[in-house]
Amino acid sequence: MKISAALLSVYYKDGLEPIVRLLYEQGVTLYSTGGTQTFIEQLGVPVTPVESLTGYPSIFGGRVKTLHPAVFGGILYRRDNEGDIDQAQQHNIPAIDMTVVDLYPFEETVASGASADEIIEKIDIGGISLIRAGAKNFQDSLIVSSRNQYADVLRILTETNGQPDLDTRRRYAMEAFATTSHYDTAIHAYFTGTSATPKANALRYGENPHQQATFYGDLDAMFDKLHGKELSFNNLVDVDACVGLIDEFASGVPTYAIIKHTNACGIASAPTAKEAYDKALACDPVSAFGGVVITNVPVDLAVAEELNKLFMEILIAPAYAPEALELLKSKKNRILLLRKPVELPTKLVKTILNGTLEQDKDNVTETADQFTAVTDKAPTTSELRALEFALKVCKHTKSNTIILAREDVLLASGVGQTSRVDALRQAIDKAHAFGFDLQGSVMASDAFFPFPDCVEIAGQAGITAVVQPGGSIRDKDSIEYCNQHGMAMVTTGVRHFKH
Ligand code: 5GP
Repeated sequence: MKISAALLSVYYKDGLEPIVRLLYEQGVTLYSTGGTQTFIEQLGVPVTPVESLTGYPSIFGGRVKTLHPAVFGGILYRRDNEGDIDQAQQHNIPAIDMTVVDLYPFEETVASGASADEIIEKIDIGGISLIRAGAKNFQDSLIVSSRNQYADVLRILTETNGQPDLDTRRRYAMEAFATTSHYDTAIHAYFTGTSATPKANALRYGENPHQQATFYGDLDAMFDKLHGKELSFNNLVDVDACVGLIDEFASGVPTYAIIKHTNACGIASAPTAKEAYDKALACDPVSAFGGVVITNVPVDLAVAEELNKLFMEILIAPAYAPEALELLKSKKNRILLLRKPVELPTKLVKTILNGTLEQDKDNVTETADQFTAVTDKAPTTSELRALEFALKVCKHTKSNTIILAREDVLLASGVGQTSRVDALRQAIDKAHAFGFDLQGSVMASDAFFPFPDCVEIAGQAGITAVVQPGGSIRDKDSIEYCNQHGMAMVTTGVRHFKH
């Protein structure tokens, strides 16, 4: 296929000159839209305005420039089809063998903070149609859909003397559909209010050093990094877990949480930030080593002095007192993040097998007024508060999980166990190991108890109130045990698996 006529319609004219000159040297007839036409004329190269093909001027402020059968017919008619050739002749439609388009810069316009009207005007209509037409008829034409392809196109046109082969034309068609699909995805993202196609950030490595990894997203929009090195893959995963957990406690009551491998190893709310931090650390000071710390209140000097004694990877806070920040910066490897109030996506996506799973985030949090008391004894006010707290932590801990708590403080958790009994035993052992007396504490479970064994073990450990979804056919066995041993149990009807 020899290119004898080309249509050029590009938004940014940069880089177009060598192509125009080469096409001209190769004897190609050039058609063009207004701005591109002016650019080509200024190079001293002859060009035919597209209006002379369509018989129409550019109308409606450029909304309709190339949308005409003479243009689309010229690109789309099949050169090996007698009927198509006859019709092209009959309607006086000249062949267009190459189309070069650079679309209106939609994403840039959105990013610039332009008004809604300006953004709508930057939805390219004719250009995207030209790209689709050129790509569809790759048998007979070459479609150049991005400025990034200019260097490659120059090389191909030079090497083949203006006769790109079928494989090349098909490759350009494929790339063209990548361009149009990316473009429409960005428009869709704008309308749905989600973030546009995310930025790819290469990470040093993945979960382990031999795994390559990339983060697709815009961390800068969410955090200001005040100090420290780049975040690693595992850091990012933990930061995500931290944010999810602390957002359950956004009530203005000072709360500190310490996360290890996505699970809280300490969390507490208290009247003062210092008290909250001290209690969170006391929960499991061993696991806290190398952890990620998050708070919902500004970091003050009193807490900073305590935090400085801990080896932690990352600290995330909504603000830092200047003197606290200065002190915290004294440790080189520590990452300090200032969290900005950014709305997060409401969906979770995960690849599995040969596809992708998507689900809503678990955005249900039950409060005491939604609890159903199922035992003779109802929880006390203090127990209810502890149960609410435990349930919030439970939701953000890997299943199977058991959370043991008192009012506003985590005592211990059993995380990611293959049985609920194991999770409970782990929690009890940990609580004892760190010197907690479980007498009068409460227990939350992410899913129902299939057998009464968990409440039996809990009762023996001194736990007095339990929250669980309920719904097991053996619920009555657990309830009966509670009734016989003076324990209170409430159900929520909501399961909180997190795998
Ligand atoms: P020019 O600067 O040559 O006047 O316009 C070039 C731009 O117009 C390119 O970005 C191209 O994608 C776009 N374009 C070409 N035809 C049409 C059309 O019919 N409608 C709209 N909205 N844009 C077009």
